[in-house]
Amino acid sequence: MIIVTGGAGFIGANFVIDWVEHCDDPLSVIDSLTYAGNLANLDQVSAEGRFDGQVSFFKVDLLDAENLGSLIHKLKPSAIIHFAAESHVDRSIDGPGDFIQTNVIGTFNLLQASRSLYRTYLDTDPTKADKFRLLHVSTDEVYGSLGLHEPAFSEKTPYAPNSPYAASKAASDHLVRAWHHTYGLPTLTTNCSNNYGPFQFPEKLIPLIISHALAGEALPIYGDGQNIRDWLYVKDHCSAIRMVLEKGTVGEVYNIGGYAEMTNLAVVEIICEILDRYKPRTDGSRYQSQIAFVSDRPGHDRRYAIDASKIRSELGWRPSETFVTGIEKTIAWYLGHADWMRALQQRKGLM
Ligand code: NAD
Repeated sequence: MIIVTGGAGFIGANFVIDWVEHCDDPLSVIDSLTYAGNLANLDQVSAEGRFDGQVSFFKVDLLDAENLGSLIHKLKPSAIIHFAAESHVDRSIDGPGDFIQTNVIGTFNLLQASRSLYRTYLDTDPTKADKFRLLHVSTDEVYGSLGLHEPAFSEKTPYAPNSPYAASKAASDHLVRAWHHTYGLPTLTTNCSNNYGPFQFPEKLIPLIISHALAGEALPIYGDGQNIRDWLYVKDHCSAIRMVLEKGTVGEVYNIGGYAEMTNLAVVEIICEILDRYKPRTDGSRYQSQIAFVSDRPGHDRRYAIDASKIRSELGWRPSETFVTGIEKTIAWYLGHADWMRALQQRKGLM
């Protein structure tokens, strides 16, 4: 069995759904259900009768080192996939404390619990020790900001995190690296570009634009809208993680990207154009008319780009969706899941 931390969040929930679609091995979710955690993201898995069968859920905070340690010892996983984090850059600027707690201290607690479990495996079950992996899910934001013509981030790009979120993730990456080098913990780290797809909390750009567009509200774009991100459909991220878990070399880092660099303005314009086709505004005007440029985020990184040639050449992974196919699927999903969005919006103090 494997453990997935943060399995009630956006990427974690997609990973759980993807996992049960691809294999029969049991999986336990550990999640403290912060504002971003949502058990409804796993409704599909529970409706299929997999909850408490193939999939179990444990409401545990990574900051509760004692409970975390004893649960991990009790579950005896063959692997831990670590998604749990505070993940929204704007929130990290307003209140960095939670990011240091969960992303740094929480990861430290998980590493210590994993190290203790790994030592037990070494003493009692060398085959299990051989197989054990801790896969740490991180972000391209640890590499800082690129100029327009600079080469994309590779695994050798020096770290230069600029936001409190990026700095807390960079710190967690360094801890994972050190636990491998110092204690021999069998770790893998992935650094991925911006994800989009079903179940993303509507504070992030793509679901925020979709929900504001449908509600007839302004579509806020930071600064001049020319900040560039690489975009990856979340299911492609999940397949990359499964591949790194299965075939990745212990101690290595793999960058994961979508080959889809776009300005924020272009992303918003594409969403508007697709909504014009799927759900035209009743007054006949275009969704683009709702676009509103707002003051830029402090320290806003200009460009991220991922060189994903290592995972492609060494493990044979590449994304199956282009931005155009992935965003069509994403918009169709949000249009078909208005209840999911409404329930989130009704949760007090969220939006
Ligand atoms: P999310 O914010 O949607 O979900 C995070 C989950 O972690 C939530 O379910 C939350 O309840 C849980 N959590 C938070 N603090 C916890 C704690 N102390 N103990 C236990 N559980 C806790 O995040 P996401 O977008 O799904 O991102 C998942 C991971 O992927 C993060 O580590 C993030 O840094 C990384 N990542 C995200 C993206 C992206 O575009 N979203 C891109 C690259 C990497």
